[in-house]
Amino acid sequence: LFITFEGIDGSGKTTQAILLKDYLESKGFKVYLTREPGGTEVGSKIREILLSPDFSINPWTEVFLYLASRVENTIVVKKKLEENYIVICERYADSTIAYQGYGRNLPLNILAEMNDIATSGLKPDLTVLIDLDPELALRRKKTFDRIEMEGKDFYYRVREGYLEIAKREQERFIIIPGSLSKEEIFERIVKRIKEKFLR
Ligand code: C5P
Repeated sequence: LFITFEGIDGSGKTTQAILLKDYLESKGFKVYLTREPGGTEVGSKIREILLSPDFSINPWTEVFLYLASRVENTIVVKKKLEENYIVICERYADSTIAYQGYGRNLPLNILAEMNDIATSGLKPDLTVLIDLDPELALRRKKTFDRIEMEGKDFYYRVREGYLEIAKREQERFIIIPGSLSKEEIFERIVKRIKEKFLR
């Protein structure tokens, strides 16, 4: 079972991913929690470059860096899935479509093909999209990385992008309003996982 979390910065992905990991482990499952960019040693170095406010980075360079991190991480994800872990990944291929596609206006079809190469076609069984108004999301943040210094318009495009992707692939997605309480969000995630996978 491969579960991904998506949503704009400050939507609460990290909190929910950790809650879900603890919950599934308490039910006796082996769980591997990872994230992108990052997740591996090489990925962590790439993450540092991507988030550093010291550089200005061309959008295509961004794409290649996120995807390089994804190649490395997906290798580990596949191995863990083969070892019967439930894998939870914060951000995956949908982030590239939402941020670099909708956010930075790069061609969606090319990004989709690049994602296919980076993941060798591995798709999540479930994607939790925590949807939140960028205004609220950015207000929650105390520190800002390079991308978070982008204007609000960028984040509105990313949010719309996520909603479009989710509309196209309804089967795979659960959309949860990020304005709900932490507990309510978690309950909805668990309910869906139980319905779909844990019977
Ligand atoms: O959510 P997390 O802190 O891991 O994301 C790292 C940063 O990279 C965030 O600022 C996010 O907006 C950005 N990002 C991006 N394009 C992606 C994935 C993440 O700009 N494809």
